[in-house]
Amino acid sequence: MFAFEVGRKHHVWRQKPRLGAYSAVYGLNLDRDDVECTGEAICVDIAPEVLRLDEEGIAEIIDPAGADRDIIIEAARSCPHGAITVVEVGTGQQLVP
Ligand code: SF4
Repeated sequence: MFAFEVGRKHHVWRQKPRLGAYSAVYGLNLDRDDVECTGEAICVDIAPEVLRLDEEGIAEIIDPAGADRDIIIEAARSCPHGAITVVEVGTGQQLVP
């Protein structure tokens, strides 16, 4: 993987694409920004069935329907960097951030 430091610890530019996942159960699109995520795992603590840290210490979505809708949104909102985006597909409304 190509990566280089851009100033602060854990903040690296990755060539991996943004990691998105569609939850058909809730009609939500989840997206985690690779650059903004610093691996603090606050979201993981709230919704461990939905998110986990990958081998690089960055959050990855493992099951976009792995918890109640409110828990998923709470986990996304908990990110201090706004790294998780949640969009309601039916209305196009961005719920988070
Ligand atoms: S809370 Fe934000 S910065 Fe921390 S692991 Fe989750 S997505 Fe990444």
